[in-house]
Amino acid sequence: MYMPPPMHRRPPSDGIEKPKGIKDLPRYWFQRAKGFFSRLFYIIGLVRRAAPLMLVFMALLCILDGVLPVVGAFISRDLLNVIAELIGQRQLGILPDDVLEALSPLIFLFILNVVYLFFKKVLSRLNTMVTGISGELVVNYIKMMILKKAKTVDLSSFDRPEFYEKLENANREASMRPLHILSATFSVISALISAVSFVIVLIGLSPIAPIIILLASIPGAIVNFYYRNRNFRYIRHHSKDRREMNYYSSIMVDKDMAKEIKILGLADTFIAKYERVFKRYYKGLKGLILREGVVQIIVGLVSTVVNCALLAYIAYNVIFLDGLIGDYSLYSGAISSIGGYVTTLLTATATIYEGTLFIDNVMTYMKEPSRIVAPPEAKLPVKGGSHVIEFENVSFMYPGTDRYVLKNVDLRFDAGESVVLVGLNGAGKTTLIKLLTRLYDPTEGRILLDGVDLRSYDPEALYDLFGIIFQDYGKYAETAGENIRLGDADREYDEGEVSVAAKMGGAHPFISELPDGYDTPLTRLFEENGIELSGGQWQKISVSRAFFKESDILILDEPTASLDPLAEQEVFNQFAALSKNKTTIFVSHRLSSAVSASKIVVIDNGEIAEVGNHKELMAKGGKYYTLFSVQAKRYTGEDVGENERYAQRFIEEKRGE
Ligand code: ADP
Repeated sequence: MYMPPPMHRRPPSDGIEKPKGIKDLPRYWFQRAKGFFSRLFYIIGLVRRAAPLMLVFMALLCILDGVLPVVGAFISRDLLNVIAELIGQRQLGILPDDVLEALSPLIFLFILNVVYLFFKKVLSRLNTMVTGISGELVVNYIKMMILKKAKTVDLSSFDRPEFYEKLENANREASMRPLHILSATFSVISALISAVSFVIVLIGLSPIAPIIILLASIPGAIVNFYYRNRNFRYIRHHSKDRREMNYYSSIMVDKDMAKEIKILGLADTFIAKYERVFKRYYKGLKGLILREGVVQIIVGLVSTVVNCALLAYIAYNVIFLDGLIGDYSLYSGAISSIGGYVTTLLTATATIYEGTLFIDNVMTYMKEPSRIVAPPEAKLPVKGGSHVIEFENVSFMYPGTDRYVLKNVDLRFDAGESVVLVGLNGAGKTTLIKLLTRLYDPTEGRILLDGVDLRSYDPEALYDLFGIIFQDYGKYAETAGENIRLGDADREYDEGEVSVAAKMGGAHPFISELPDGYDTPLTRLFEENGIELSGGQWQKISVSRAFFKESDILILDEPTASLDPLAEQEVFNQFAALSKNKTTIFVSHRLSSAVSASKIVVIDNGEIAEVGNHKELMAKGGKYYTLFSVQAKRYTGEDVGENERYAQRFIEEKRGE
C-alpha cells in the first residue's frame, strides 16, 4: 500500500541564531563562515575519498586555468606592439629589406600564440574529462554512502517526517551537487589566481585602479549572497510543497495505484492538486528571481560606469604619456578580465555557499543516530535452539506520538508453542511483533529472549532467528526462485532447496507452470518476459520465502489475507508440521487458524484481553468467543445464539471508536 510520510510545516533554519544587534554580528558571521568551511571541507573530503586522483588533477588544472589568461594577455600585448611597430615602419618606409628578419619576432609570437591557444583547448577538454569521470565516481560514492547508512537507520526514524525529508533531500543532493560545488570551488581558486595576476599587472599603471574595481564589485557580491541565501531559505521553507508535488506525481505513475486512480477517475483531482501546490510554490520563487534580476541590473550598471571611466583613463595614459597600443590592450584587458573574474568569483562563491547549505541534508542524514545497535559485549542468541520469549509489563508509544499503542503487556511464549494473536484492526498486533523482533524498543518494560533483554543481543544475530512475513511483504523484481531465496540471502541459490520451500508455501504448482519455471522474472519492470502474479500467488511466494529461511521463530503477520480458506489451511498444516521445537506466531483476524493453536492471545485496544487455547476461551464466553461467533456465522450461516446480538454490538462499538 502506498503511504506518504506524514507532513508537518517546519520553520526554515540553517541552525544559526539571527543576530540580535550590531554586537552580535561578528559572532553571527563567524559562525556562518565556520559552517560554510566545515561543509566545504566535508564535500572536499567526499570527493577525496571517491576519486582521489581526480581531485589532484582538478587542483592542477585549476592552477593552470588561473595562470593561463595572464600569459595570453602578455602574448597579445607583445603581438599588438610588434604589429604596430611594423605598421609604423612601413608608414615611414623604413621596413628592413630582409622581410623574414623583419617579421621574425612576429612569427615567434604567432607560434607562441598558437601553442598557447592549443594548450588552452587541451586544458578545457581535460577539465571536461576530469569533471565527467569524477562526477560519476562521486555520485556513485555518495549513493553508496546513503544506502549503507540506510541499512543502519532505525525503523523509528522513518516515522519522523523531518528525517524522511532529510533522506529524500540527501538522495536528491547525491546527484551532481557535490561535484558542482567542487568545480565552483576550483573556478573560484583559478579566478582568484587570474584576478590577482591582473591586479599586479594593473598596479603597473596605477595602484588605485585595482582598488576602484574591487570596490565597484562589492555591491554585486552583497546582492549575490543575499539572494542565494533567500533562495535557499525559500526552498527550504517550501520543502513541504515540493514533497507534496513529488507525492502527487509519484502516485500518478505508481503501477499499483494505476488501477484505482483510473476507475475512481482520480487523475484530474491529483493533477489539480499538483498544480495548486505548484502555483503556491512558484509564486514566491518567481518574485524572488525577478527582484534579483532588477537589483543585479542596477548594480551591473554602476560597475559598468566605473569600468568605462577607467578605460578612458588608460586611453589618456597611452596617448599622452608614452604608452603603446599593446599596453592599452593589456590594461583594458586586465580591467575587463578583473571584472569578469570578480563576477565569476562572486557567482561561484554564492553557488558554493548555497550548495553547501543544501549539502547539510546529507550531513545531517549521515549523522542520524541509530539506537538499535549492538551494545558493548553484545550477547549472541543460540541459533537452532528453542526459545522462550517474555514480555514484562511492556508499554509502547510510537516515537513522536503521545498515545500508548500497547499498554502493560505481560506475555510468555514457551519453546515450541504455536501462538495466534487476534484482535480487531489497529488493536496493536503488528506493533507487538515489531517489538518482539526489536524493530522498535519498548517505551516501558522489557522483552526477554531466553531470559535476556533483547537490547543485550547483537541485533543482526537476533534478526537471524526470525523468519517473518509482514502484511506488506516485498514483491521483488527478481526471478521466482530468487524471490524465495531472498528469505536467506546468505545461502547459495539451489533450485532443489528453493522448490522444497515453494512446496511448503504452496507456490510450487504455479511456479512450475510459469514459462521459465523458477527462472521466470517476476514483475514487468525490467524484463519483457516478466510475469505479473496475482495477490494470492505473491502471498504464497512470500510464505515460501519464510519457509526457506531456517529460522527458530516463525512469524506470519496476516499472511493469509489474500489466500482462499483452502490455501490458508494448507499453510497452517505446513506450519504445524514445521513448528516442532520452533515457536510460531500468527497474526490473523481469520479465527479458523486459532482453533488448533496452543495459545491464543486476544489483544484489545493495546491490552491483553484474554490468553488461552480455543477450548478455554470459548468456554469463557468473552471477547474471543464473541469474535469467533460472528465469524463462524459469516462462514456457516448458522445462528450462534444470543451472543450474536452482543457480538454485533461489540463490533459496532469498535467501529465507532
Ligand atoms: P494491528 O496490527 O492490530 O491492526 P497495529 O499494531 O498495526 O494494529 O497498529 C496499532 C496502532 O498503532 C494503530 O492505531 C496505528 O494507527 C498505530 N500505528 C501503527 N504504526 C504506526 C507508526 N509507524 N506510527 C504511529 N502510529 C502507528
